[in-house]
Amino acid sequence: MVFVDAHCHLFDIKRYDIPNDILPVVVGYSDSSNRKASALASEKNYPFVLGIAPQTALKEGLGRLEDWISFIRGSRPNAIGEIGLDYKWASSSGDVEKERTLFRKMIALADEMKLPMVIHSRDKPNDIARKDDGVPIGAVDECIGMMEGKRFVMHFFSGTEEQAMRAVELGGYISIIHMRSKERRKVINSVPMDRILVESDAPFVGRTPESIREAVDYIAEVKDMEPEIVAKLSADNAMGFFGFKAKVLGQA
Ligand SMILES: [Zn+2]
Repeated sequence: MVFVDAHCHLFDIKRYDIPNDILPVVVGYSDSSNRKASALASEKNYPFVLGIAPQTALKEGLGRLEDWISFIRGSRPNAIGEIGLDYKWASSSGDVEKERTLFRKMIALADEMKLPMVIHSRDKPNDIARKDDGVPIGAVDECIGMMEGKRFVMHFFSGTEEQAMRAVELGGYISIIHMRSKERRKVINSVPMDRILVESDAPFVGRTPESIREAVDYIAEVKDMEPEIVAKLSADNAMGFFGFKAKVLGQA
């Protein structure tokens, strides 16, 4: 059986050998992490994803964005990510605007390179982020609202069942982590199996990619399926979404 961890930061895990039955999709989030992700992926022949995350815009500013984009362009990743909006860290409307500016540029880059997107979105109930009419909006709704006509996955999905189904109606995928919650159970139950990916987000959520075994078991339990089938279907979904071949898996 082969598992695909659709989202991990393998280069951030110290002294770790990934088991042979897990193929990782290696994801960057800043210029320095993009460089590490790209180097590791080309050494090991792993699929990889490069992008500038909203937190990076707040931490490092956008002064070197064009250089960062040049590196991504030249590296030919499988997708653009992780990118999106995170209002947990935004502490002013200026921060929100910075995140939005960056996200629009990343969407334009994905369009230009004809690549799918890995979306990071996290809400925090504050009313810093507003729509043009002044009504407060959360990051999950705002991200989904920008995905019409795009190929995308909602990574570490932590929204509601309704939000998940809106993403699915737009053609999106929902990536599931091992952590259990009432809302996540509803999401797993409603999202069709052909739109589900599993991920560890290691080392920040799962400690290592091995936490996807728990995510697979969780989905199998909620959907009343065999874990082997969930592993196989979610791996097939990841291969289709990120566009890598089974022969890469054969080497894993
Ligand atoms: Zn991540």
